[in-house]
Amino acid sequence: MSGINQDIMVNINNVCKSYGQLEVLKDINFSVAKGEVVVICGPSGSGKSTLIRCINRLEKINSGEIIVDDISIQNPKTKIVDISKNIGMVFQDFNLFPHMTVLKNITFAPVKVKKLKLKEAKAIATKLLERVGILDKADQYPSSLSGGQKQRVAIARSLAMQPELILFDEPTSALDPEMVGEVLSVMRDLADDGMTMIVVTHEMGFAREVADEVIFLDDGVLIEKTTPEDFFNNPNHKRAQEFLSQIL
Ligand code: ADP
Ligand code: MG
Repeated sequence: MSGINQDIMVNINNVCKSYGQLEVLKDINFSVAKGEVVVICGPSGSGKSTLIRCINRLEKINSGEIIVDDISIQNPKTKIVDISKNIGMVFQDFNLFPHMTVLKNITFAPVKVKKLKLKEAKAIATKLLERVGILDKADQYPSSLSGGQKQRVAIARSLAMQPELILFDEPTSALDPEMVGEVLSVMRDLADDGMTMIVVTHEMGFAREVADEVIFLDDGVLIEKTTPEDFFNNPNHKRAQEFLSQIL
């Protein structure tokens, strides 16, 4: 029946992922509603990046099912362009195109993938640069920007595709401390605007204030999925308690 999952954006069912003999994701199940912000945290090596990368098929899963906005991600018939039109990704190390200006970084995919006219793409990019507060950098190259500015360009670039979902993998981990706030503030605005977001981060202040739910991964197992209040005030599992005591 159509429309039954109208308010679900992401469905992860029984997802398992191994690299050779190493089981990295062990029977992961969760869903994300439209407009929800989910923070994923957990120790280093617990599978957070792998999980994020499976959601936009940068990695293939071994079994299970991932559905984003009614698109079956693991289905080999699903085209990668249909995934990249719908799912934005912001990486720890920005991944900007170094040989393109800031403006070109943002207009490139809409023109190439969505077949927008350059003029249209430029108009969108200009609005987005204004929104993330760096319109004055439009004609510069990434190498001349600070880390915080680079990450704001990366966010604007993913927004330019008008995605249904944005995945963030430790977007502030490579930044100098004084630049973390400007990036989190852009992310907070996006969340307030109703964007569906899955965010891997160690920024527990952001998790507490912005997340609708927090997922705790440990050794490839989804141990908790709960509200931030619950997670921070009475984490159920010993591993989550240990993690929080180290990080807070
Ligand atoms: P996290 O992001 O939580 O630190 P990752 O998802 O990066 O964890 O890694 C989970 C586990 O998978 C780690 O043991 C890591 O060494 C391993 N791993 C990650 N990527 C690969 C890969 N491409 N090939 C083999 N092992 C990998
Ligand atoms: Mg990682």
